Amino acid sequence: MSTHTVSVGNVEIISLLDTPFELPWQIFFPERSESDFDPYRELYPDSYGEGRFRTQAGCYAIRSQGQTILCDTGIGPGPIQFLGGIRGSLLDDMRNKGVPPTEVDTVFFTHLHGDHVGWNLSADGAVNFPKARYLVPRADWDYFGKMLETNPQMRQVTPLAEKGVMDIISGEQTLTSEVTTYPTPGHTPGHTSLLISSSSERAIITGDLAHHPAQIDHVEWCSSFDADAATTTETRRRVLDQVEADGLTAAFCHFPHPFGKLVRLEGKRVFQAL
Ligand SMILES: [Zn+2]
Repeated sequence: MSTHTVSVGNVEIISLLDTPFELPWQIFFPERSESDFDPYRELYPDSYGEGRFRTQAGCYAIRSQGQTILCDTGIGPGPIQFLGGIRGSLLDDMRNKGVPPTEVDTVFFTHLHGDHVGWNLSADGAVNFPKARYLVPRADWDYFGKMLETNPQMRQVTPLAEKGVMDIISGEQTLTSEVTTYPTPGHTPGHTSLLISSSSERAIITGDLAHHPAQIDHVEWCSSFDADAATTTETRRRVLDQVEADGLTAAFCHFPHPFGKLVRLEGKRVFQAL
């Protein structure tokens, strides 16, 4: 066991890093001033760059009942021009952590933004996870499918349907008897989390339910990438209240520390990294 792996009952969850990246605060949180985040700087120093919001494109692999599920496929090989030419390294990170791409049975997408679907296909158009089925939330397929021109990341998604390896899902779907999809709409219409439950232990992989850990306390702070701020806020409040009350282990794709618990500290609700 190492810090990138947690056990939840009989389930193993491995955190994967595609790449860290930074963005100006005004681009990510245009309705907030940078100083709003100052009270959280000591708690979460790794989420602050030099005058910029520091985050990462993270993914998770889940081993349950002989199945390997990959949750999201990162930002991709790049270079990503609007992020300074960064390049992801998810496939290398998977091999280094003992989860080779050939092992993956199921690829599940929390949603269809470009930093979550980037490694689906190689440069020559072959699937990078050759034995996997790819699970796409229906509401995101419908939403982004209508805007192909303005969503170039769909070039990593629509070929999956043409190849016959994609399944569209909705509602709560059982992936194994320990892993269930859980719709958490708002950030995108089809945004979906994963609930893990095994031997009376529980965890949730929340995708982009929050981007900066200060949002654990301020659930009403929305990013420019939240498609529907009101629904995002309502979902974030409801789910995080439940995660805190039930003591679930929580994972957020964009937090620098891949696993944590939600606890109270000096009047704030905080993300306490494991
Ligand atoms: Zn994201």
